[in-house]
Amino acid sequence: MSSGQAVRDYDYLITDSNGTRKVKDGIEYPATENDLPKKHQDSDCTECTFVGDQETILAFKVDRQLRQTVWYEPVFVGKFTMPGWVGHSGFYLFKCRECDEVCVDYSHGYTDFGLMYLACRYCGEGLPLEVTKERSIYEREGVHIPKPTREERIQDLNDVIADAESRGVRVIIDFSEDSQRSKVGYFQFLRDYFDF
Ligand SMILES: [Zn+2]
Ligand SMILES: [Zn+2]
Repeated sequence: MSSGQAVRDYDYLITDSNGTRKVKDGIEYPATENDLPKKHQDSDCTECTFVGDQETILAFKVDRQLRQTVWYEPVFVGKFTMPGWVGHSGFYLFKCRECDEVCVDYSHGYTDFGLMYLACRYCGEGLPLEVTKERSIYEREGVHIPKPTREERIQDLNDVIADAESRGVRVIIDFSEDSQRSKVGYFQFLRDYFDF
């Protein structure tokens, strides 16, 4: 996601049941509206369209004929932002290989050692975006383009981990977000990495 954050005059924000305060040099001050991260829907971004949810894109922002004819390969349908987002993302229409429902989703990271994926809204199945076929998605989203083969991506990941650990960093892979999608990503990770 891209973002257009203004220069801020605090070190960090604290948000709890008392509201939001800004902290500068260890001292707390009340935070004003201007201190809060600017929501992308209020920026004057001309690249994207604001929608309330993903269903709206599928129902109203996708050509009806395309919706009826789309196949397993994802088709770019536009850039959108949603409530609370600090940036925007490309959205893709595709038919789920698992349940055959047509859905829209934006690309998530990561599965299969560095591939982005789209997730089915109905059954949770992840569709890994193979670099050889979907390179344009990586380019459009402005994200790192992983190596084409799994062996090369595993080598890349191992290099990154070995480099971090050689500098005394213990690498822990965090899947804290408790959503169906991250569970899919987590089990995919376990299967891939530990032959689970
Ligand atoms: Zn935008
Ligand atoms: Zn599905």
